[in-house]
Amino acid sequence: MIRVENLVKKFRHRNVQNKTAWKTAVDGISLHIAKGEIFGLLGPNGAGKTTTIRMLTMLTQPTSGEIYYDGQPLSGHEAGMKRLIGVVPQNLNFDQDLTVGENLELHARLYHMERSERESRIAELLQYVELTDVTNDGVRQLSGGMKRRLLIARALIHRPRILFLDEPTVALDPQVRRRIWELIRRMAKDGVTVLLTTHYIEEAETLCDRVAIM
Ligand code: ADP
Repeated sequence: MIRVENLVKKFRHRNVQNKTAWKTAVDGISLHIAKGEIFGLLGPNGAGKTTTIRMLTMLTQPTSGEIYYDGQPLSGHEAGMKRLIGVVPQNLNFDQDLTVGENLELHARLYHMERSERESRIAELLQYVELTDVTNDGVRQLSGGMKRRLLIARALIHRPRILFLDEPTVALDPQVRRRIWELIRRMAKDGVTVLLTTHYIEEAETLCDRVAIM
């Protein structure tokens, strides 16, 4: 489902002599991730995990190398490929003044979903992540675990086939973390391919089918 060949990212920066230099953030990684697999990227700060995810989610252009989704090269087909992927960012970037339901509604509109489809998909997702009871609550009122589940629901709205999660359980207590793991496992079982980054070795061991250490 995901194939990455020799992906490289170099950033231009000013070195200590104030001269232009190139810094290699990702140095030729290759990966192959099967459909429905839960794949973990593990590594210390500065290893290049975020840069890798940013290239995979089209937020930054690779310096060289190629990414394939479902056998198709990403370069040159970015617009079409955007519908294939969902992204759960690390920061909770909701509209804080809207309710849970309104946040999902806003996102569904961004994907130009018809009204009836929006309504049924939002109801289905709220049930999936067990947030139906708080549909009309403001986002500010949610606990950390609920906010994380809402982020996951939002990323799934357009039925992506690949889901990227950047540190999905950071700062959550163990019980809540386990609930998020269950949700991720359920998605993979439903055929979604999952790529996540994590700092937690326990998360990589118990949740992921395979792990790459950067
Ligand atoms: P991780 O997510 O594993 O902590 P990052 O991908 O954020 O790692 O960073 C990898 C390396 O690339 C680091 O050395 C970081 O300083 C560098 N880097 C990331 N983004 C930029 C940028 N926009 N400009 C210059 N260097 C960057």
